[in-house]
Amino acid sequence: MNYRHAYHAGNFADVVKHVVLTRLLEYLKQKDKAFRVVDTHAGIGRYDLSSAEAQKTGEWQGGIGRLIDAPFAAPVAALLAPYLETIRSLNPEGGIQKYPGSPLIARHLMRKQDRLTAIELHPKDAARLRTFFAGDFQARIIELDGWLALGAHLPPKEKRGLVLIDPPFEEAGEFDRLVDGLIRAHKRWPGGIYALWYPIKDRKAIIAFRKALKQSGIPKLLDIEFEIRPASLEPSLDGSGLLVVNPPFTLEGELRTLLPALHRLLAVGRPAHWSLEWLAGEQA
Ligand code: SAM
Repeated sequence: MNYRHAYHAGNFADVVKHVVLTRLLEYLKQKDKAFRVVDTHAGIGRYDLSSAEAQKTGEWQGGIGRLIDAPFAAPVAALLAPYLETIRSLNPEGGIQKYPGSPLIARHLMRKQDRLTAIELHPKDAARLRTFFAGDFQARIIELDGWLALGAHLPPKEKRGLVLIDPPFEEAGEFDRLVDGLIRAHKRWPGGIYALWYPIKDRKAIIAFRKALKQSGIPKLLDIEFEIRPASLEPSLDGSGLLVVNPPFTLEGELRTLLPALHRLLAVGRPAHWSLEWLAGEQA
């Protein structure tokens, strides 16, 4: 386990993933009934953008660094508000020094009846997360393999909520594990919302991934692709994808408003495209 998210926190891919996460949470909050967020690859929760790791790559400057003070038109600003407000709450002195990871974003937007299960395999990261959430009875931190958690921790007793699956993609076979894990999880909890992150680097792997998803029999799959540059000759993160299973009916419309605005700010090379495609259900 060499992957350290501190090098990448707040980059364009985090921005897209976390904005979608906030829209899913806001949807779940429309009903009073409690929900649970299960974050299978949680990371450390809070990232210092002045750290040696963040400074080394400077990736956050091409992500949240471009958003934090950007002017947005009214509908986009309203949709981004929960995300940007979460970040501002972590940086009360203004500017951007700290960036929230997915468990922190979920925890910030949850209500008193909602719960978070954050799973992290790296012992040091799990320990940091546990310290961070010490005494918080709404957050449960578990040091465990996230793929196992998809079996053991689903369905949650609330029977409402969201599973974020955000693996590091440092080992071969991660796309296969995503499909297998999703199929297993969906069998245990067909009604849950799932968000699965993947890198846009290896186009052949993505074609196979999308084909396997279409054949999975899972009935509602909305795929978001967000490229910031055309395909590089050397393998590099040219974009990121997020597959949403059982997306709320509001999500597609919101993303059709949000993604063009984010793309104008975050794309660095042309041609680069973003897309929303139903792999199953709706207009597939
Ligand atoms: N979800 C986080 C966020 O959005 O802020 C970022 C997570 S980062 C991309 C992936 C994390 O998964 C790393 O912290 C890594 O230590 C952890 N990890 C790697 N393999 C894992 C596994 N099998 N189960 C759970 N966590 C794992």
